[in-house]
Amino acid sequence: SEYILEVKNLYKEYTSKNITVKAVTDISFSIKKGETVGIVGESGCGKTTLGRCIVRAIPATSGQVLYTAEDGITYDFLSIDKKKLKELRKDIQMIFQDPYSSLDPRMTVLNIITEPLKANFPKMKKSEMEQRATEIAEKVGLNPSYLRRYPHAFSGGQRQRIGIARALVINPRIVVCDEPVSALDVSIQAQVINLLKDLQREFGLTYIFISHDLSVVEYISDKVGVMYLGKMVEFAETETLFSRPMHPYTEALLSSVPVADPTYKMNRIPLKGEIPNPANPPSGCYFHERCSYCKDICKKEPPEYREIEKDHFVACHRVEELKLRGFSYDE
Ligand code: SF4
Repeated sequence: SEYILEVKNLYKEYTSKNITVKAVTDISFSIKKGETVGIVGESGCGKTTLGRCIVRAIPATSGQVLYTAEDGITYDFLSIDKKKLKELRKDIQMIFQDPYSSLDPRMTVLNIITEPLKANFPKMKKSEMEQRATEIAEKVGLNPSYLRRYPHAFSGGQRQRIGIARALVINPRIVVCDEPVSALDVSIQAQVINLLKDLQREFGLTYIFISHDLSVVEYISDKVGVMYLGKMVEFAETETLFSRPMHPYTEALLSSVPVADPTYKMNRIPLKGEIPNPANPPSGCYFHERCSYCKDICKKEPPEYREIEKDHFVACHRVEELKLRGFSYDE
C-alpha cells in the first residue's frame, strides 16, 4: 500500500441512558509514511475520540484502520486478535494533551519512560532499559540526570518532553498527538512543536496531529482534516485547505483567526450560534443552522463526502457553486 495508515468508514457511537451519541461518523482518510495529518475542529467535534479509536484505546463501533506494518503486510488494526495486537500495539502510540495528568506522580521519570518497554519487551534487561531511557531522554532534550526525579519537579514543557520520550522509547512508527501543546505556555509551544518535527525527521515518524489550534496545525501538517460534529467536512493538503478552503465551516473557522499576510483578503464569515448537541444533531447537513450559504436541500439531506479535486475532499451540497463564485478569495 502507498499508505502506512488508512482509516476507513470509522464510526463511534456511545449509548448512555437510552441516548445515542454519534461521536464519530463515517470518517475516512489516509496517511503516507513520514507525513503529518492534522485533525482540527472545535471541542466536542469528536477528534479526540477518533484518535483514541485509531490507537484502540477505546473500541470503535465499526470501520477499519488498515495499518501496513514494517513487514509490508497490511492489517486491520481494529480487528487483529490479541496476540497480533500485542505485537503491533507498540507501532502506534499516543501523546496526550495534559502531560501532568498522564504521568504517575509517584513514579520516577525513569520508571515512567521505561514502563512501555516493560510492557512490550518483558524480557529486556533492566540495564538495557535504562540505556534506552537515557538515549531517548537526550533526544527529547531532557538532562539524563532528571531520570531519578519525579514529574512534579518539572515545568509543563519538560513534562511534555517526558510524555514524548515515553511514547517514543519503544520505537513506534505512528504517533497520534492529541493536543500535545494546548496545555503549554505559548512561548513553550513552538519548542515542543519543533522538537516533534525534529524527531519525526530523525525517526521517520508518521503523525496524526489533533488540535483545535489552526495555526499550530497549519505549521506542522502536510494534510489537514476538518471535523464538525463527528464528521469530516473537508480534507486537503495544508496549503490548499488554508488558501482556498471549500467547505463553509472551514471558511468560517479560518476567518476567525488573524492572517499574517496583509495582501490576503478574506471574507469575514462569522460562525453563528453554538455547536449543536451531538446527541441531537440537526437534520441534513449538520452545519446548516450555522451556515451562511444554507439552502433548502441542506436542511433535508446530508451532503456526501466527495473528492472535488485531486486529494481534496468536501462534504457540502453547494461546493461547486460556491467554488465558482470564488467565495473566500475575491478581490
Ligand atoms: Fe452550508 Fe449547505 Fe454546504 Fe451544509 S451543505 S455547509 S448548509 S451550503
